Amino acid sequence: MSRSSVSRAISRELIWVAISLGIFLFFAWLTGFWVLTLFAYIFFYLIRQIWSFYQFEACLREVPNVDSPQTGIWEELYSLVSHKQRALKKRADLQNNKSEQFHAASMALPIAIVSLTKNHKIEWFNNAAQTLLSIKPSDTGRKLETLVRQPEFIQYLKQKELEKPLFLEAFMGQTRTYRCEIFDYYHGHRLLMLEDVHELYNLAKIRKDFVANASHELRTPLTVVNGYLEMMIDVPDQIPIFWKKPLGQMHHQSLRMQAIIEDLLTLSKIESDTLVNAITVVKVDEVLKNIEVDIRYLYSEDYDIHFLIEEGLTLKGVEEPLKSVFTNLISNAFRYTPKGGKVSVRWYSDASGLHFEVEDTGIGISKEHLSRLTERFYRVDTARSRESGGTGLGLAIVKHVLEKHDSELKIQSQIGKGSIFSCDFL
Ligand code: ADP
Repeated sequence: MSRSSVSRAISRELIWVAISLGIFLFFAWLTGFWVLTLFAYIFFYLIRQIWSFYQFEACLREVPNVDSPQTGIWEELYSLVSHKQRALKKRADLQNNKSEQFHAASMALPIAIVSLTKNHKIEWFNNAAQTLLSIKPSDTGRKLETLVRQPEFIQYLKQKELEKPLFLEAFMGQTRTYRCEIFDYYHGHRLLMLEDVHELYNLAKIRKDFVANASHELRTPLTVVNGYLEMMIDVPDQIPIFWKKPLGQMHHQSLRMQAIIEDLLTLSKIESDTLVNAITVVKVDEVLKNIEVDIRYLYSEDYDIHFLIEEGLTLKGVEEPLKSVFTNLISNAFRYTPKGGKVSVRWYSDASGLHFEVEDTGIGISKEHLSRLTERFYRVDTARSRESGGTGLGLAIVKHVLEKHDSELKIQSQIGKGSIFSCDFL
């Protein structure tokens, strides 16, 4: 109620009181019944207020055939409250509309969605979930485990840390691949999402199998070709002079191809998930000391090398792939650092976990490349990579191995100053 409308309502009420009181007083003067007339006036005034209050309340309750109050303050009060009421109703209608739209949209989603309580009791689900999980509205309140009895699904559901999705290659009697993911979404409530990714999953599998098979098939013929080339190079006297250079180049290229094939095979081995079965306690300090011996043998004349390795620091993981992470990062540091530079390798622990770092004073990498370096065959300078014997797969291998060890590669770099490649383990 604005201040001017309040004062207008009060002045109208006062004018009404003055006029009606004037009439009653005139009547009292005529009749001489002053006290009686005064009581009659008070009674009349009270009845008027009670009637207005009744109208006010009845109108708010939307009782039919009751007029809105027409007296001073009540009229103003009613106009204000009904205005607010209309605004609230409009807002509520709008919200209802939105939540209906949202409900309809989630119902129409092709992904199965189930809302669960902390104890996995079903609260709500959409049409796709109804079809996929064969659940009915009467199942609301039941534990999901009593309806879906697949052990790996139940185990996933019971996990506390739900960071990674689960891929189910057969589910609820269907031989299709489903991507299953669970999120905490509201005060401990959980949202289960099941998406049919059969085609995509199959395509990725076909690609992986193709790369693995092709690399495997190419490996043997290439070893034979390489063997013959080496044999020829080893007997330079029996080779015509004009064949020496082409033979040298053929040998170099076949070695490069061999390296690429080995890296492709390593990648498909890492992707095939068989690593989980080979987890042991890896003595990283010993692994790094062995690498240090080779590195010093190869590079100590041309580089300033520092290995700072904390003794006895072990890591739960798979040794061979971890070793390829360390070798890839360390050999990259030398390959991309001009002679005379410095390379430091650190393996240490602190309160936040275990850390591996390789720091170089090399050519550095500009920012726009950093996010793409772990893509297969992505190189900043293709010619330089090839010249230094690179396959373009080293950092892709590093990324995949680290993922399997719940870690990730971090890169800090400055053009012309050098780079730090690091990863943290828990
Ligand atoms: P490559 O066999 O080409 O070295 P990688 O996957 O190991 O392939 O690395 C990808 C690219 O990242 C390299 O081609 C290079 O451009 C860049 N790179 C990797 N390590 C370093 C480094 N320490 N300093 C500068 N550039 C680097």
